[in-house]
Amino acid sequence: MTDPHHFHTALAALDLPAAWQMDVTIRPRRRTAAIQIHPGGTVVILVPPTAEPDDIARFVDRHRHRISEHVHTTTRLASNHAVKDFVDGEEFDLLGRSYRLRLVTTPPPGVDQLPAITADGVLYARTQRPELVRRAVIGLYRQVGLAWLRREGRRYEVDGRIIGLTYAVRDLGRRRWGIYTSPSVHTTTLHWAAFGLPTKLIEYVLVHEQAHATQPGGPAHGRAWQRQMNQWMPDWRQRQTELAEVGRHAWLGGWNRSS
Ligand SMILES: [Zn+2]
Repeated sequence: MTDPHHFHTALAALDLPAAWQMDVTIRPRRRTAAIQIHPGGTVVILVPPTAEPDDIARFVDRHRHRISEHVHTTTRLASNHAVKDFVDGEEFDLLGRSYRLRLVTTPPPGVDQLPAITADGVLYARTQRPELVRRAVIGLYRQVGLAWLRREGRRYEVDGRIIGLTYAVRDLGRRRWGIYTSPSVHTTTLHWAAFGLPTKLIEYVLVHEQAHATQPGGPAHGRAWQRQMNQWMPDWRQRQTELAEVGRHAWLGGWNRSS
């Protein structure tokens, strides 16, 4: 019987995300390998006694994206999303900058309409019921996010020969940051909450969907798609891992109703 150590050595050569806690268990009765993702994100590879370490490494490599998505989901189950109070001084991150909320009855000098963000790090919103302030702030994320998306998405359209792509920003729930809808709709959509992430992670979500928009052929996250990702964002795997971690604490619109 093979020593699990040999499997770990073969897996180490894959350069898997550091956040994955890999475990190999040899199962005498198994004929095929299988993957289990445990709560908290431990990845257990169940290995038949006859398997070769290289075969198992190839097997894991083939399922890399699926593992990544499952780890993402299970760690999200243990997520601890930010909750906001819509009162003066509450902090909001938008496109890599931090803003303090200030509730006002009229726009301050130099501000045309509410809500608005200013260069000195203030998010101005009209004084009203918290659920309405929340709605206005999310509306601002959508508006600022869509402008960013159209501007930043353009270079990938040109480079990837993507024709006629449209963009949208909306609420995508708790499980996805972006989605490319193909091919008749041909739209790259980002979650409004993605714009509260660090900029390098917003970029990852955008590039991930733009790579789909090139319609590379093959499986959704197959070789052709990965080739495009490697070309556009050589460190995309690292950002993907970081997103799984940072995303657990991101603000998805939650608020403190008692305030
Ligand atoms: Zn995808």
